[in-house]
Amino acid sequence: MTILDKFKALQGAYDAVQSAGRDPFSVCFDEVLSPSEAVLKGRRVILLGTNNYLGLTFDSGCIDKAVEALVQAGTGTTGSRIANGTYGDHAELERRLAAFYGVRSAMVFSTGYQANLGILSSVAGRGDHILIDADSHASIYDGCRLGNAEVIRFRHNNPDDLARRLSRLKGQPGNRLIVVEGIYSMLGDTAPLKEIAAVKREWNAHLLVDEAHSLGVLGGNGRGLAEQAGVEADVDFTVGTFSKSLGAVGGFCVSNLPDFDVLRIACRPYMFTASLPPSVIASVTQALTRVQEDPGLRTRLSLNAQRFYRGLEAEGFVLGPQVSPIVSIRMPSTEVALAFWNALLEAGIYLNLALPPATPDDVPLLRSSVSAAHSGAQIDTAIATIAAIGRDLGVVTEPPSRRTETAKRQAGLPEGLRQPAHGHRHDRAPVAERTL
Ligand code: PMP
Repeated sequence: MTILDKFKALQGAYDAVQSAGRDPFSVCFDEVLSPSEAVLKGRRVILLGTNNYLGLTFDSGCIDKAVEALVQAGTGTTGSRIANGTYGDHAELERRLAAFYGVRSAMVFSTGYQANLGILSSVAGRGDHILIDADSHASIYDGCRLGNAEVIRFRHNNPDDLARRLSRLKGQPGNRLIVVEGIYSMLGDTAPLKEIAAVKREWNAHLLVDEAHSLGVLGGNGRGLAEQAGVEADVDFTVGTFSKSLGAVGGFCVSNLPDFDVLRIACRPYMFTASLPPSVIASVTQALTRVQEDPGLRTRLSLNAQRFYRGLEAEGFVLGPQVSPIVSIRMPSTEVALAFWNALLEAGIYLNLALPPATPDDVPLLRSSVSAAHSGAQIDTAIATIAAIGRDLGVVTEPPSRRTETAKRQAGLPEGLRQPAHGHRHDRAPVAERTL
């Protein structure tokens, strides 16, 4: 018996995943060429699973600012924010974030994960209740575990269930903190924020919105779902990350609460870790400027998201409930998801494989994230490749319009050259023609 024996079942599941082809959890790019293309084992692939929503990782302005800061201020701060790790540029980025959101204060963390860990574990204390959406990101769950508040899960995107659970707390002392996400990372659906804000007001709770996937994506100014829904005044804490639309790494929380800055000496994941390197702070500050000055980035992203979502929908795939830059295809089983993911990689498309228990309702997903940097041709290639493999594996049948064309084409061929309509090509056993 060793201390790692508890992971035997997990190791077994991982071995099964690896035996199906490439290891989806240790993909290593030879070279990343641009926000939308990389080289993997000598082959060019379209990047379709990167969260690089605005394509800013290669923005020349962001790179210039990062290089300048690197040369001027060195490679790292080697200290936490409360020791030697706060430079003028860290403070300036916090001022910029607070001004962007029109609130009093901002705190920059070393990752978005740590922002959730820090804020949730410190603002809600013993005797308080945190009410989290059941589909919350791991960082939200972990932030709850790090603190001393009672945690209550409510049904995903269900304000009535939230209200019911709050009503059961009536008469109990302590504060209530509701936690939701702007765009949910697995299926790309948005929170019903207007209704959630109404519940918040009715029950005199606080509200935290994690805009990790919606900053730079939603809202007239790119501030996220709360801006789009017109409920920013109801949000007490906005959490976000620099690792998606802003193309770098890091996280933040902004708030209009007058005493928010006390968290700088109370929030352990802020206090006891090294601060972000100056180069990262510089590129993020420039990326924020791009978000503010170039609304065309959001328009391009939105058009690409529409094109990809509608294209896959027309091919018969079962997707998340709404158009969003996160487009996930529901898979009938883990085995099919693995075969699909491997076949896509062979065909030059990289996207994310998301497996239970990390997915809503334990449904395996092929998760893509669209970028403003994708060309129309890349999106169309991805749709055509996914559709061909989907038909091959029996995940979808041919759409009715194309079925007629194929039938006509096949009718003109000699019998031996005709192909079955779908799902029976090659020597792979057809998977039940089932979509979830
Ligand atoms: N919140 C949500 C909703 C996320 O999806 C993520 C990252 N996937 C994070 C927080 C953490 O962000 P970071 O990568 O900056 O740690």
